[in-house]
Amino acid sequence: MSKKVALHNLGCKVNAYEVEAMQQLLEKAGYEIVPFEEGADIYLINTCTVTNIADRKSRQMLHKAKKMNPDAIVVATGCYVQTDTQKLEADSAVDLILGNNQKKQIVEALEEYEKEHAKKVKVIEINKTKEYEDLSIGYTAEHVRAYIKVQDGCNQFCTYCIIPYARGRVRSRKIAEVLEEVRTLAARGYKEVVLTGIHLSSYGLDFPKEERESLLSLIQAVHEVDGIARIRLGSLEPRIITEEFMEGISALPKVCPHFHLSLQSGCDKTLKNMNRRYSAPEYAEKCELIRRFYPAPALTTDVIVGFPMETEEDFEDSYEFVKNIHFYETHIFKYSRRQGTKAAAMDGQLTEAVKAQRSEKMLKLHEIRAKEYETAMIGRTLELLLEEEVEIGGKTYFMAHSKEYVRAVIEKTDAHKVNDLVKAKAVDFADEHVLLAICEDLY
Ligand code: SF4
Repeated sequence: MSKKVALHNLGCKVNAYEVEAMQQLLEKAGYEIVPFEEGADIYLINTCTVTNIADRKSRQMLHKAKKMNPDAIVVATGCYVQTDTQKLEADSAVDLILGNNQKKQIVEALEEYEKEHAKKVKVIEINKTKEYEDLSIGYTAEHVRAYIKVQDGCNQFCTYCIIPYARGRVRSRKIAEVLEEVRTLAARGYKEVVLTGIHLSSYGLDFPKEERESLLSLIQAVHEVDGIARIRLGSLEPRIITEEFMEGISALPKVCPHFHLSLQSGCDKTLKNMNRRYSAPEYAEKCELIRRFYPAPALTTDVIVGFPMETEEDFEDSYEFVKNIHFYETHIFKYSRRQGTKAAAMDGQLTEAVKAQRSEKMLKLHEIRAKEYETAMIGRTLELLLEEEVEIGGKTYFMAHSKEYVRAVIEKTDAHKVNDLVKAKAVDFADEHVLLAICEDLY
């Protein structure tokens, strides 16, 4: 009888991709995948270390797994493993520890463990890793949109971030390998791919000069794949936005006019303290450049409030900056002290009350701007990718996302099905942050 494996993921889209890749390796090797409940023979937790809370959650899930079945093999993989190996080695709830860049060996590592029944620790010093670990997926749990990991690691060392220590230096996946995966996914019917990585803008920096590929050449290659109708880009660093980059992608109709440009602060002093390598005016220029090539792009961003030494005035600068850019969405994070980072040791740590107050103010601005952007879409024809059926006010609709990643619904009829691309005119709101659209034709 085949062994039952339950997997659980914590953290970002890259981690989610990697856990799916491990699941598919295990399935291929004959393991049965079961829900993360009692009764599995093996529990695999793909851990996260982005905040102190993520560390705690990772440990909690490992202990929960052992409690669900004390005889099961509990496997810890992922980022927390890299930053706190010793603690996990000493933890009796954990039987097998696989670091980043060891995930591909999941099947062999389990076989080895079963033979020897002694705790196994396979964690390498990630900073010395130069090779991209080639994991791949043939399908994904997402219904219509496939996230594809194309890059790992980060060389930026923002002062608040532990990720370069958990993920190591920049490693990029060869274009040929990305294309193979995109073709497999397209053959399975996926129409939208999201290119993602730990620091996507660094794609290709590690390739030798003579075969230097860039994010732009990767996007151009993916654009050639038949069946793929949309290419969405994961989080970008502002400095990737150049005339050349914008000219290149704006010539590719499959690229979605949705740009998530990580800001973190609109105050130059705070940006410097964060070791972000651009100034607020430079960031604003990049937004202008995007708007020169796309008439109404969705610009989205991340902002940290309450960073050490952020005065009331600094926060106001950041707030005004965010207000003036007119983002569609702003994801707001209260600064969270992460052990082992430079920022955690900085003077001028702020109270939770101050962080909460600033976060609330920024959140209100986000609400206003999101509504403004969505309202401006009313009257426009959107391209919608139908994702699932939903009920709103007793009526059945297809929920969809536009190319800009705005949510919209169209009434459900037999003329359409999930995964269709349709053109529909936005006429009103159907719900909070959901547009109501009327279908014009089937693509
Ligand atoms: S760019 Fe900065 S925040 Fe992003 S992963 Fe690298 S160090 Fe962390």
